[in-house]
Amino acid sequence: MVDSVVPSIRHQYMSCPSARWRYCSLVVCLFWAVCLSGCATIYNPATGRQEFIFIDTAVERRLGQQAATEVDRQLPLSRDPQRAQRIEQIGRKLAAVSDRQDLRFQFYLVEGSEVNAFALPGGFIYLYAGLLDHVRSDDELANVLGHEIGHVAARHHVKQMQSVLGYQVLSSLVFRDTKSPELQRGVAMMFDLISKGYSREDELEADRLGMRYAQRAGYQPLGMVSFLELLQQLQQSEPSSVLTIFQTHPAVSERIIRARQEIEHLGLGEGEIALPAVSQ
Ligand SMILES: [Zn+2]
Repeated sequence: MVDSVVPSIRHQYMSCPSARWRYCSLVVCLFWAVCLSGCATIYNPATGRQEFIFIDTAVERRLGQQAATEVDRQLPLSRDPQRAQRIEQIGRKLAAVSDRQDLRFQFYLVEGSEVNAFALPGGFIYLYAGLLDHVRSDDELANVLGHEIGHVAARHHVKQMQSVLGYQVLSSLVFRDTKSPELQRGVAMMFDLISKGYSREDELEADRLGMRYAQRAGYQPLGMVSFLELLQQLQQSEPSSVLTIFQTHPAVSERIIRARQEIEHLGLGEGEIALPAVSQ
């Protein structure tokens, strides 16, 4: 679809000199419209890199909201206020110290026995009851939630959508056409991305960020290691219960190694750290 739109514009405007001028004008106008709409190379503190982002926070939030509406329709959200509150309380602490202060994160508990969690752009975080049943401490839970917040902070969804949808999303964002098929397609693609899993680099980055946010919020980053070890056990004993989020490359064994390295990087030798307190 991306390829089919751009050539059709070029073909229509390139057939005579005046048409070429109109085409150039269109490109220039589009460039400035995009820039005025908020695109920029920004420093992303979550990744530590300069990144070109043309899906601004408002549009990211709108995309996430549309996707969240779809999730609400399809997944049963928990009505257990105590369990939902546990996620909310820990999630808020993590969000307060995350690298995305331009978003209001929202946390939801999904009924279901699967060991699963996922994030939507704009700060919508979902965690399954099955995962909550298995975590053995607030430290483990904080690291899982921190991992999901990390995906949003690093703008993994946004960058993926930009690279795949390119011109079409760009044009719909410029003209603020919220009902455009391109924007709808962006939402569909987001679900596809989530169901297929992120890239190896994005997963490892989200693990690192999750541990960083957990530490800032007063939780043990070692909770990431112990949770991943738990996950490794579950993959063997109950493989069907471990869903999307953790059925990704890299393998859990590699994530454990990298998480241990991150603990060293955070200045916490493992000898200095007690295993996470078991709260359940
Ligand atoms: Zn992830």
